[in-house]
Amino acid sequence: MEAAKLMGYETPGDQKVPVSVRDWNAQKLALWHSRGLAEIAIREALGILSGCKHRDGCPGAESETEPCFSPTYSKAGENSESEVLTEGCPDREQRISALVILNAARQLAPADARKPAEPYFAPSREYYSDVMAALGATEIENEMLRALLRDAGIAVPEPMAKSGNSNEGSAPSEPAQLAPAEETK
Ligand SMILES: [Zn+2]
Repeated sequence: MEAAKLMGYETPGDQKVPVSVRDWNAQKLALWHSRGLAEIAIREALGILSGCKHRDGCPGAESETEPCFSPTYSKAGENSESEVLTEGCPDREQRISALVILNAARQLAPADARKPAEPYFAPSREYYSDVMAALGATEIENEMLRALLRDAGIAVPEPMAKSGNSNEGSAPSEPAQLAPAEETK
């Protein structure tokens, strides 16, 4: 290893970064969840595929890689090719969509992901404080950016009104709506 480093064989990709066990476990947990969800998508897509109706003799009924009978096909005549209109497989389009979902799910699925065996460690008080401090900082940053826009004469939609908000002075007279509130019946 040392010799390789001396000869300049170490690339930026060889460098290592410290990752907390909490984050490492969260990664493993996320991969494991992805695998489970990909399996659900694959199972459902296979279910749709097996329910697709084919015309008699369609090679697509047996093989995922074979195309279904299309509504038109070229027939080699004695002198020229002619296009013949036929009834294709009835679920041809649905089968193609199911195959797209199936293959995407297969590629998205992690090659291997097991449920992490490590016990769950609750975040420490310090970690919790750090997260809350970071959240507070982003809120201040957000308000600074909004003030910047207001100074430039750009109407800034106000977020959902919070009771006891002390920023009333800078709020525009008409509360702008980010999205229409869903009517509850
Ligand atoms: Zn078919």
